[in-house]
Amino acid sequence: MKLQMADMADGRWQIRDLRLRIGDLRLQAVAVRLGVFILLMGASLLAQAPFDSAQGRQPDWKALEGEIMRHYQAVLRIDTTNPPGNEHLAVEYLKQVFDTEGIPAQVFALDSNRSNIVARLKGSGKRRPLLIMAHTDDVTVDASKWKFPPFSATRDGGYVYARGAIDDKDNLTAGLMTMVMLKRMGVPLDRDVIFLAESGEEGNSNFGIQFMVAQHFAEIDAEYCFAEGGGVTRIGGEPRFATVQATEKIPRGIDLVSHGISGHGSIPLKSNAIVHLAGAIAKVAEWRPEVRFNETTGTYFRGLASIAAPENAKYYRDVLSTDPRLRAAADDWLVEHEPQHASMLRTSVSPNIFTGGYRSNVIPSEARATLDVRMLPDEDPAAFLAAVNRVIDDPAVEARFPAQNTRPAGAAARLDSEPFKAIEAANTRIYSVPTLPTMSTFATDMAQLRAKGMQCYGIGPAVDLEDGPKGFGMHSDQERLLESELYRFVRFNYEVIEDLARAK
Ligand SMILES: [Zn+2]
Repeated sequence: MKLQMADMADGRWQIRDLRLRIGDLRLQAVAVRLGVFILLMGASLLAQAPFDSAQGRQPDWKALEGEIMRHYQAVLRIDTTNPPGNEHLAVEYLKQVFDTEGIPAQVFALDSNRSNIVARLKGSGKRRPLLIMAHTDDVTVDASKWKFPPFSATRDGGYVYARGAIDDKDNLTAGLMTMVMLKRMGVPLDRDVIFLAESGEEGNSNFGIQFMVAQHFAEIDAEYCFAEGGGVTRIGGEPRFATVQATEKIPRGIDLVSHGISGHGSIPLKSNAIVHLAGAIAKVAEWRPEVRFNETTGTYFRGLASIAAPENAKYYRDVLSTDPRLRAAADDWLVEHEPQHASMLRTSVSPNIFTGGYRSNVIPSEARATLDVRMLPDEDPAAFLAAVNRVIDDPAVEARFPAQNTRPAGAAARLDSEPFKAIEAANTRIYSVPTLPTMSTFATDMAQLRAKGMQCYGIGPAVDLEDGPKGFGMHSDQERLLESELYRFVRFNYEVIEDLARAK
């Protein structure tokens, strides 16, 4: 941890120093200057960089762009909408690429339509393996909302449009290219590099990661793993900072059931189940569970405060304050303006399903709702459920956990580790941005691996912060990625893995 904090302090110092020199220019200018500053620092940075010519050849990334785009479009054009998934179609494509390249690859399946593939490049065994993974399934689409058909992977105005463009066929393509290039370049390895493309991440991990962990763990066992969940944030077209997902919230749905007396709709009853359920939902929605930081989110908000524009930085600092009034005011602001950040502060509750009644003239005896609850990694589920029941405070309404598969809890990845430093170095070298660890509010397949003790890091390409609100984000009506950022991410992915696996 010491080293990490020193790195962060250095990063802050560089940025503050620039701010002093450029006066009141905004962050955008700071980001541009940061690149210049890094160039000026070139001598010392290059000395640490593992990619000088003495270390061997590097892929000719410009020449590889056609091949990268070909693979990316090919996997995007395979309809792996989950349900039903049909991930075996993507697995067949990947298998054929690995076969052509002479990389050993094996298919594992609980259901033959929902297979997984594992490829492995052998190292000397001096160090424990690395695992690169990406899921092959996509969330569902409403094709009528798309300007270009969702599985056409149309290139337009510098973007590629397709379901899966940034979730998760970007990581799939980058992982594939990293394997291919390590093999083709004949990079001598200190450790095995394993690639896993798994099915069912979007809600059926029993076919994918859960199956692989339970039945074939030896095939994917590694010291470190890399998957989705992080990336580089661009604002106004400029990369500003990178995030590495080091931990994630745990989804635990809660069902609410209310019971009342049924009757004729012409005679209203105080016990009406719908009225009681609506009251319970209103109370739960008003409630803000306690704000709590962990090492990842504390480092994230401190880091964000050091690089954000002053008017926003104030809130990131205040929410960390021990002064309850400052903290509450900052929380109010985040809930209103940056709900994703507000969700990172606490176990969140969102009522997303409400059902009850079947005829306008019948008072139903039962009504049901489902709360989407995203727990902080250290939350005690039973205690939280008890708190929900206390907030509702209505004997007619019961809150309970449904019988369903849940993601297991696991320890956050370390921030003073070799992979975190390799990612940080690559972000500086390739994007000229500082790196912040982050906790995703959504779940990923890393949960199952962290529960097995693996150190997992979420990475991803650079996307425009403005793109999500325009409807081009993950799981949005449309999805897209800049072609230039796909190429840059493939290089980033390769360099991080090569840095960690190359024989030293
Ligand atoms: Zn995903």
